[in-house]
Amino acid sequence: MKRILVTGGAGFLGSHLCERLLSEGNDVICLDNFFTGDKSNIAHLLKLPHFELIRHDIINSIYLEVDEIYNLACPASPVHYQYNPIKTIKTNVIGVINVLGIAKRTKAKVLQASTSEVYGDPEVHPQSESYWGKVNPIGIRSCYDEGKRAAECLMMDYRRQNAVNTKIVRIFNTYGPRMAMNDGRVVSNFITQALQNKNITVYGDGSHTRSFCYVDDIIEGLIKMMNSADDFYGPVNIGNSEEFTILELAKTVIRLTKSNSRIEFLPLPTDDPARRKPDTTLAKEKINWSPKINLEEGLIKTIEYFRGALKISCNDTRRWKEK
Ligand code: NAD
Ligand code: UDP
Repeated sequence: MKRILVTGGAGFLGSHLCERLLSEGNDVICLDNFFTGDKSNIAHLLKLPHFELIRHDIINSIYLEVDEIYNLACPASPVHYQYNPIKTIKTNVIGVINVLGIAKRTKAKVLQASTSEVYGDPEVHPQSESYWGKVNPIGIRSCYDEGKRAAECLMMDYRRQNAVNTKIVRIFNTYGPRMAMNDGRVVSNFITQALQNKNITVYGDGSHTRSFCYVDDIIEGLIKMMNSADDFYGPVNIGNSEEFTILELAKTVIRLTKSNSRIEFLPLPTDDPARRKPDTTLAKEKINWSPKINLEEGLIKTIEYFRGALKISCNDTRRWKEK
């Protein structure tokens, strides 16, 4: 049995990863500061004998004995990572140094959840791992983009200087159950707006593109990368290469939810990348990974989740008002 640390384990991706690692018979330590994560994401795991929860912030050092580390701790939505940008970059630099410190001391293998944001507003389409990106170093997204680039740099320097067994995965836009309802990301916004027949907020003219990958496919990719040969350390892109405009996404969500919502066009946020689509050739070749779930299939599951989550939050508000 392996003892595996998942930082950011109470978040959207982290909670699914903890679940999957436990189901495969591992001992799992979930570490989280609950900035964007939620106890409800992991409440069902707390009673399991091989699950342990630690409330901790990775910018402070911690001493644990583990075999593997998945480093997911970091707010992922633009609204959340821009809320306290200094904290975001500290998480990606000081936090990553602390995580690499554990890996160095215990000889644990460590996987860094990097992001398509390292490509910035790309001039190359689709984006392959050999592209170095076009990132604004001083903009409002830099705390995250440059933070994640610094984290990749640290992974590689600890590998070269200290022989730490590191792996880097660049995750593209992911969606699915347990996305935070208030995180401002496009899929959660559109679904919650549509289910409440509110206006769907499309930023810009809706021509920006993203490629959306369902959470189960991403979790499979993270695990395959962790278990790949030691001489393959990435970075490797993990994402769905079906590209959609944001307007197409809005129309699909309206259709699948049978909503009466109308589309409202709002100003585009600064430095919003115009196009994004992963080249996943390397993932296919090196770790035999490709996504299985298409957008409609994934959206249907996600819509069901948000229907339930909205009902719970309405009931909570009613109870609170009645008090
Ligand atoms: P999330 O916000 O749901 O999860 C992040 C988790 O990390 C939360 O539980 C949060 O409380 C925790 N956290 C944040 N800062 C911390 C700190 N300093 N110490 C301890 N815990 C901390 O986001 P997510 O979508 O699950 O993303 C997980 C990881 O995957 C992130 O590193 C993110 O950058 C990366 N990623 C996600 C996506 C995506 O589309 N979801 C895309 C690219 C990369
Ligand atoms: N977006 C939008 N309406 C929303 C939220 C986001 O049109 O309510 C757009 C955003 O401008 C971007 C895309 O959707 O072009 C994806 O945004 P998200 O915040 O989900 O992730 P990003 O890929 O930008 O980190």
